[in-house]
Amino acid sequence: MQRAFRARRIIPLAGEGPSRTARELFSPPRVHDDAVIVTRGGFVEAVEPYGHFRRRAATPLTDMGEVTLVPGLVNAHGHLELAHLTGSTVQGAGFVPWVRSLLPLATHPLTQDALDAAVRQLADCGTAHVGDVGNRATPQVAAALAAADIGATLFCECFGYTLPDPPVSDALWPDSARALPPDVFMRQAALAGHALFSTHPVTLAVAKRWCSRNGRPFSIHLAEHPDEVEFLTTGKGALADMLAVRVLPEGFEAPGVPPVRYAAELGLLDEQTVAVHCTQCTADDAALLAASGTWACLCPRSNAVIGEGAPPVRQLIEAGVGLCCGTDSLASNHDLDLWNEVRTLRDMAALPAAAPLRMATVNGAAALGLAHLGTLEPGRRAAFALLPDDLSRDIPATA
Ligand SMILES: [Zn+2]
Repeated sequence: MQRAFRARRIIPLAGEGPSRTARELFSPPRVHDDAVIVTRGGFVEAVEPYGHFRRRAATPLTDMGEVTLVPGLVNAHGHLELAHLTGSTVQGAGFVPWVRSLLPLATHPLTQDALDAAVRQLADCGTAHVGDVGNRATPQVAAALAAADIGATLFCECFGYTLPDPPVSDALWPDSARALPPDVFMRQAALAGHALFSTHPVTLAVAKRWCSRNGRPFSIHLAEHPDEVEFLTTGKGALADMLAVRVLPEGFEAPGVPPVRYAAELGLLDEQTVAVHCTQCTADDAALLAASGTWACLCPRSNAVIGEGAPPVRQLIEAGVGLCCGTDSLASNHDLDLWNEVRTLRDMAALPAAAPLRMATVNGAAALGLAHLGTLEPGRRAAFALLPDDLSRDIPATA
């Protein structure tokens, strides 16, 4: 059935591909004043002036009022299976104290109430799709997102130095992935590596190869915190002390190179990889990410909560790194409202609001390989979000 949604302003980002350069990210988007989105069967048919639409009186119209509609948000990185751990971790002291406080809690079963509340937060801010990482409660998370009509890339996370036997992709999937309904697995499952310091390099390479062969994105936490850089380059530091107890094999030797370079050497970096955090990226790292087409998924509020520093947003943009954004989990963020990431990115790097808006929509969709999302134009899914007023005011009317 045809339907229509009228709004004071619509910013469809139509015709835009992913924005990787400062010029693309910063350019003022086309703003449609007093316009409608016409949909049929859940897909966009047209975005047009209300005056033009008025002549088709038979189509039911929902007047959304004095609001700005934008494409549905793509939260490119989260962990819904940690939704029950709000406020229970050590914050502000860096990654190692944070993860030490998380480990004993992570085995507590995810409660349905906490999961449902987290999914409501995603829905309330207009999230159309989430890149969710987990390895314990994937079927429960998949069902809750489907019930809320939120799309998901279900990244099943590999962890540890025990090589799968045999070391092939079939052996990598955690039990929670095997428990997914077959059609959900076929459409939505992908593999992720936890991090370069926590996961065997062969496991990472095999997981990445499976994703490439199957047209799926691959995700990994990369260059997240100073401890990671110290551990990979020297084999020492607080992370080494912690990992030595339960994760690292006997005789382990650090690769002796910083994270982004090591990821490149392992063949993990290309246009289908989402490198999450990147707070420790140097100019050389940014050049490597840009040259390989790797997406950097920024989660600045999570970095601030844990105490890891901030991503070098301007440096990444100037190098031409494709940027998207995510909330990370409620174990390291105050909420799952991606508009708060958009505001944080705008403020921390003095960006025009259009730049983080593109990161949260068209770029997130490209990073996760979602051809049906990211913009509002004919053929795309009719998934839209309300742009909060403070951000809308930052985007000028089209001249
Ligand atoms: Zn994460």
